[in-house]
Amino acid sequence: MKKHNFSAGPSILPQEVLDKAAQAVLNYNNSGLSILEISHRSKDFVAIMEEARTLALELLGLEGKGYQALFLSGGASMEFVRVPYSLLKQNGKAAYLDTGTWAAGAIKQAEKFGETIVVASSKSDNYSYIPKEYSIPTDASYFHCTSNNTIFGTQMQDFPETDVPIVCDMSSDIFSREIDFSKFGIIYAGAQKNMGPAGTTLVVVKEELLGKTDRVTPDILDYSAHIAKDSMYNTPPVFAVYASMLTLQWVKANGGVAAMEKKNNEKAALLYNEIERNLLFKGVAKLEDRSKMNVTFILVNEAHKEQFDKMWKAANISGLNGHRSVGGYRASIYNAMSIESVQVLVDVMQEFEKTIQ
Ligand SMILES: *Cc1c(COP(=O)(O)O)cnc(C)c1O
Repeated sequence: MKKHNFSAGPSILPQEVLDKAAQAVLNYNNSGLSILEISHRSKDFVAIMEEARTLALELLGLEGKGYQALFLSGGASMEFVRVPYSLLKQNGKAAYLDTGTWAAGAIKQAEKFGETIVVASSKSDNYSYIPKEYSIPTDASYFHCTSNNTIFGTQMQDFPETDVPIVCDMSSDIFSREIDFSKFGIIYAGAQKNMGPAGTTLVVVKEELLGKTDRVTPDILDYSAHIAKDSMYNTPPVFAVYASMLTLQWVKANGGVAAMEKKNNEKAALLYNEIERNLLFKGVAKLEDRSKMNVTFILVNEAHKEQFDKMWKAANISGLNGHRSVGGYRASIYNAMSIESVQVLVDVMQEFEKTIQ
């Protein structure tokens, strides 16, 4: 029986995507070949890559606005490096907002390249909120932020107004809510949270920002080289790109990002309302900054842990344990998660309440 998968990543995918991907592994499009054994230069895969790139821009409302979408490899972590290589001048400076473990990881890499200014950080409060009072130096080459903090369960609701190009790691909330995506210079997202299997990263780049640094950049770290080769500078992760394309088709067929947002708001409200109502639980993130993708919460009384764990496991729920740096629980309720599965978790929380009283 299929489980209710609350894993933070790699994470749940739409059943339809799994079915189509499984079929393609056996026999892609009745070609007599598996998707795993076709050339990335074949007509079939060139069409897949093109559709994935086009759909990504279309769903973000960025078609015809000077952006290119790439499907690269190396994970979101690779973009921690490609971003400064591509945008940071040798004597320039970069500005970063430190909102979590991944943001801090990006900062650590940028520091290897040049002056890196952390405009604000919530680290001393274990990243339980998003800092809002900060200013971005006008001479920074770019400002980097993380839209959703997968581990701590916080999410940026607003993005700064600035003339400095904004780079955003949207790994865990891409395609989950409507934002004016044209505010960003670069958006990147590892596929394995809200888009596909591990192995590829969507990078959306505003082309006019490229080619302005004075660095010697190896081609594989240079977005321009990937754009020039239509995202096939080297062998792309064929299967991960294919499965991501299937998910993007699913997002489009189900009403696009606006419809995803509506459903995500309902799921998050259902779960957060229960966390607030049920006196046995407590939310981790500051109310106004709570994430609609990763819901973090703890037991008020740790002594109840064994009982609660037993109950959610018996309800066929998987992947609910919190990250080791936060503890407690984390329910990741990405696009593919149904409201019915969230209801199963809420029901368990209510049953648990009855057994304790
Ligand atoms: C998971 C995650 C990453 C790291 O992704 P990799 O693909 O493992 O490199 C970076 N940023 C955020 C926000 C994430 O959730």
